[in-house]
Amino acid sequence: MLNLTDIQPQVDEIYLDNNATTPVLPQAAEAAIHTMNLCYGNPSSSHMTGLKAKYILESTRTLARQVIGADSGEIIFTSGATEGIQTSIISALNASRDKARVIQNPVLLYGATEHKAVPETLKHWNAMLNINAEVIAIPVDERGILDVDFIAEHAADALIICTMVANNETGVFQDIVLLEQVIRQHNPDVLWMVDCVQGLGKIALNLANTSIDYAPFSGHKLYGPKGIGMLYVRDQAPYTPIIAGGGQESGLRSGTENLPGIAALNAIFKLLVDDDDTTFKSHQQLCAYRQQLAETLNKVFPNIVYNHDFSCSLPTTLNFSVKGLSSKDIMDLFDAARIRVSSGSACSSKVTGSFVLDAMGKSKWQSEGAIRLSFGPASTQDEIDRACSAIEAAAKAMQHHCLLLTDAQGESDVYVDGLQQWTFDNQLTWCYVDQATKQVLLIDPVVELSERFQTLVNCRQFTVAAVLNTHLHDGQEDCAAMLRGIVQETLRSESHDSLGWPETASEVMLENGQSVAAIALGDKILAKLDLPGHTENSRAYLLGNAVDGRLGKTNIDYVFAGDLIQIGGLGRSDIHGARPDQLFDSIKLLTEVVAESTLICPAHDYQQLFSTTLALEAKSNPLLAKLLTGDLTRAQFIDEKERLDQQLQDITEQALCGLITQHSKSLIDVFPDKLQSFLAANPDVQVVDVREPFEFEAHRREYLDEQKIVNIPLTRITDFIHRFKGEKRETKFICICRSGSRSAAAANALKRLEFEHVYHVPGGFALLN
Ligand code: PLP
Repeated sequence: MLNLTDIQPQVDEIYLDNNATTPVLPQAAEAAIHTMNLCYGNPSSSHMTGLKAKYILESTRTLARQVIGADSGEIIFTSGATEGIQTSIISALNASRDKARVIQNPVLLYGATEHKAVPETLKHWNAMLNINAEVIAIPVDERGILDVDFIAEHAADALIICTMVANNETGVFQDIVLLEQVIRQHNPDVLWMVDCVQGLGKIALNLANTSIDYAPFSGHKLYGPKGIGMLYVRDQAPYTPIIAGGGQESGLRSGTENLPGIAALNAIFKLLVDDDDTTFKSHQQLCAYRQQLAETLNKVFPNIVYNHDFSCSLPTTLNFSVKGLSSKDIMDLFDAARIRVSSGSACSSKVTGSFVLDAMGKSKWQSEGAIRLSFGPASTQDEIDRACSAIEAAAKAMQHHCLLLTDAQGESDVYVDGLQQWTFDNQLTWCYVDQATKQVLLIDPVVELSERFQTLVNCRQFTVAAVLNTHLHDGQEDCAAMLRGIVQETLRSESHDSLGWPETASEVMLENGQSVAAIALGDKILAKLDLPGHTENSRAYLLGNAVDGRLGKTNIDYVFAGDLIQIGGLGRSDIHGARPDQLFDSIKLLTEVVAESTLICPAHDYQQLFSTTLALEAKSNPLLAKLLTGDLTRAQFIDEKERLDQQLQDITEQALCGLITQHSKSLIDVFPDKLQSFLAANPDVQVVDVREPFEFEAHRREYLDEQKIVNIPLTRITDFIHRFKGEKRETKFICICRSGSRSAAAANALKRLEFEHVYHVPGGFALLN
């Protein structure tokens, strides 16, 4: 295991994720350490050590009053904002039990863009306390501003209204004065909680001058440590302690206080109230920082769209999307370039959007592609300058690798050749480049990846050999046709059939003697083989080297088989237009013309395994195994397939196109602390960095011998498997990436395709610095 002291920030790290959490200010850290080392007393003890601790506690409370403008009301130290939110909501609901019975349709209102802690707490305690009110989101407009008419309409029935000072994803702030007017006009007594987490230190707060009942705060969003926060409670607002015990905090929140955390707040508050101190920057200065960052972003990402209106947002947050780039692309690039930002959507294979941007009515691509860049109110000019330089340098790596097009593009000297698989939500799009003849072929495109293809074509001035589908379901959106329209001018052939196959006079003979249509692609040939069954129009494309007009089994590199053969199953035959008898004949035909070890590239990938072979499939699929050995009649196949398809109907829609079996993972891990000794003990090992080339370019890897690393991005793992199949048994490969997730996927895929000596580094570069 790594020692804690070995876990360090990267040198020159640029931290732009302050809305998630901030670094701890040195003054705050010093105050906390001082308290731990020297003022460790319990504030409840009556001896002098305890009295010193008590002084720290109470003087911090006094400073807090000054910072948030609360000369009246209670300030209770908590573990953070989530606790403050619990306390506020429980207090309000507990006090509203009687009212809830009197009102016909009691409601709990919260802003639609509120932090998840708010709606989840409302729903939880509404159920736990048997309040049975309706929990309703207050809609926001396209700027993220709460709909005050909606509040006016529902306020009379509300037991609590929860709003926020500023949003954590977009920085959009609300007009608290207007909200107060509307709320109080329609319900003078309703309890009102305002989440102030993102406002502290960035917006002037004067809580005692408002009728806000509860205001939670969090220390770690303003340069304090995690685990400390506070809650403001207005005089006379109902209050229910959620932690009972020794009666600390005047009985309002029991448990010995987190004095080091409170001391850290003390140091921060002192800086905030000191007019001569320049740690915290003026609003004007923060706006200038934002402007500088926005100008840099606009320059490097010509297709950038900001997801919020700067005029109603805190200057410290920039939330943007870039047409044609996923949030994962940008996150990965920035992370490699040491720039830490966050994405609205999770970085999983399943693409999800941001509920905040969805509530603002932003388009799907904006929501799914959103990046949040947040600096802090104590950021410095030097940090912003460094951030801008780093962003410019990082974007260059993207331009080199054709993910970004700019006016200043020039000829890229970076080599792109061979097969790539692009994934979106378990769908696989295959892109094949023949560098020598500058041609590109695309198979089974999805809309979400179409921009990427266009950028690649334009960036390299490629000729598009074809944009093909392996099949098309009735009523399915034909992205290939759409793309053919867009790249029309660079398309090799003007006429093509409904799946995009170009009109061609060439033919090639397959292993079984059958002649099929073919097109040349550099020194390779792409043959079309009709294989109906999953749909009437299904077909496979075979890519390989023809010898004397013959494309023999062993000369085929890849089979793009659509849904016919999948990883862990066969294409469904119970959907509209499908025919199991044809499926049987098609699989039989395929086995006559391709080898059992030929790489099959399917149209779906539910397990991040990317490609497969007939031999591998037969191992886990008895139906296919029997079909391959000839031990199955067509009638038996139809019966058995029907039964299997029936089972699929109950499984998720993900399995729409075929049967899924789980692949077991058995990888050999080399943990980061053991990597150097592993490399020393295995001088022949090949380190495979599976990140995308733009990340590889953007990341300096001082600690690994550059000679030993090859960059084989996960998107090219099938190409790698093909090219290195001769070294399956001998060479040792160790896969590495940013976090250990892609390297695990790569190693898993290699292992499954019988690469014998495969290792991976859990935790990845994140733990290597
Ligand atoms: N409210 C907002 C607006 C936040 O940004 C956060 C943290 O992300 C929270 C509440 C929860 O804060 P804590 O982490 O202190 O529980």
